[in-house]
Amino acid sequence: MALADELSCLLGRRGWRSPPNCQPWQRDWLNQSGEEPLGVAMPASTAEVTQILKLCHQAQVPVVPQGGNTSLAGGSVLGESGGVIVSLSRMNRISSPDVESGTIEVEAGAVLANIHSGLEGSGFMLPMRLGSEGSAQVGGLISTNAGGSHAFRYGMMQDLVLGLEVVLADGQIWNGMRNVQKDNAGYQLRKLFCGSEGTLGVITKANLKLHPEPVQHVTACVSLPDFNSASRLATSLRREAGDFLTAVEFFSDFGLEMALAHIPTLRFPFSERAPHYLLIEVSSSSAKVPLEDILNDVIERAFDANLILDGVIATSLSKRAELWRLREEQPEGQRLAGPQLKHDISVSPGRLAVFLLEAEKICMSILPGVRINPFGHIADGNVHYNLSPPLGQQSFAGQEAEFASQLGELASEMGGSFAAEHGLGRTKVWLADRLRNPVERRLMTNLKSAIDSTRNLNPGTLTASLKLVRPVI
Ligand SMILES: Cc1cc2nc3c(=O)[nH]c(=O)nc-3n(C[C@H](O)[C@H](O)[C@H](O)COP(=O)(O)OP(=O)(O)OC[C@H]3O[C@@H](n4cnc5c(N)ncnc54)[C@H](O)[C@@H]3O)c2cc1C
Repeated sequence: MALADELSCLLGRRGWRSPPNCQPWQRDWLNQSGEEPLGVAMPASTAEVTQILKLCHQAQVPVVPQGGNTSLAGGSVLGESGGVIVSLSRMNRISSPDVESGTIEVEAGAVLANIHSGLEGSGFMLPMRLGSEGSAQVGGLISTNAGGSHAFRYGMMQDLVLGLEVVLADGQIWNGMRNVQKDNAGYQLRKLFCGSEGTLGVITKANLKLHPEPVQHVTACVSLPDFNSASRLATSLRREAGDFLTAVEFFSDFGLEMALAHIPTLRFPFSERAPHYLLIEVSSSSAKVPLEDILNDVIERAFDANLILDGVIATSLSKRAELWRLREEQPEGQRLAGPQLKHDISVSPGRLAVFLLEAEKICMSILPGVRINPFGHIADGNVHYNLSPPLGQQSFAGQEAEFASQLGELASEMGGSFAAEHGLGRTKVWLADRLRNPVERRLMTNLKSAIDSTRNLNPGTLTASLKLVRPVI
């Protein structure tokens, strides 16, 4: 029997889609990549995932695991037609939290926002917050080792994963569903799957670490005259409110202008525009901490030092949500504004101002007039350094690779990364080949070969061109 027929028999009507009914899964979120699959498998259990992988392995047909398909690096769709997309969406069970231990067991297809709402009132939260949380799933978040706005305080996804269940390329199940922080019995296998972008196995279940749910938040937005002021204020916040600080997010006036122009429900909170803005949030799981005083103290001193032009503090939950949207709608505003180039850079927070200065010189030398929209997570030095073409133009004059290459080099020279939190996917593999040293590349090739020897899982993602590097024996 042909593979498509076998999978269709195995999974039934709810679990198998063939072309032309694969459209919602076929293209990536940016609609930049994605070839036609043989079909989309939607298993309802780990046993079904095992069967799918066994059949694909026997037939040597590539498998691409897919979560919410919000990847910004093109890793969740096929690079060549004919493979099978395995969507975990139907495996979305979320158990009750273990409140004694502060953990929760979830299936890989659980959507992050549903985990957040399920935890409401339990006294616990999963501190992973990002603009895509209404669609992104646990398996995708783990596989990309997602960061988001709270990462500087609570860590990235790898810091929240205690245990995993993973189906390997040949259908074997690795049951690593422990729920302890401390487990030094050998290599840290669970960490290996964090950030593996679907190239080592299909994650089917996870035990996640929870943190106490804050009972109070204070959220402020301030406008600033320049990025140096933003950087100095972020340093003061870390020093003086660090125990309670949960977010310090920055965005520029250009980003805000695009968001306000294309998303009419956004509200600008100040009387005048400014070059830069910071969204600041402090929170505590104790009602007794004088959070507002702590934040006001830092902000007042920043006013006195002329770091801040204006500021607002949210006085209600709806105002808090309004302020957050100003930051979270930055990617959507730029997407709606037209062509863009995305770069996901990190350098140490103290060097971010230098990076931005040098990066601007680079960009202007490559394409004078190119418009820069830096925004992101200032507290951990992660900037989404996105570009729009010069006014009146619709393209980057064929210089896309030059921007990525020179900005990536600058970040690397400064001890940072050209792929901070979105992963390599398919779109940045060439950059990794160029900017990562041969030993590092070889280690990755060897790992891939050891765990997926036939390279059936998500070929073309993460280590694609490393095929050319001979494994060290
Ligand atoms: C508006 C917007 C804002 C964003 N903000 C952030 C942000 O602040 N921080 C951040 O880190 N990212 C951000 N992202 C990127 C994206 O949301 C994250 O990378 C997210 O973790 C992807 O989850 P997903 O379920 O959509 O995965 P997908 O896009 O479906 O897949 C991503 C990768 O994981 C693999 N994968 C998916 N599920 C599994 C599984 N069960 N087993 C094995 N491999 C799997 C896929 O093969 C692919 O390589 C943003 C994206 C958007 C659109």
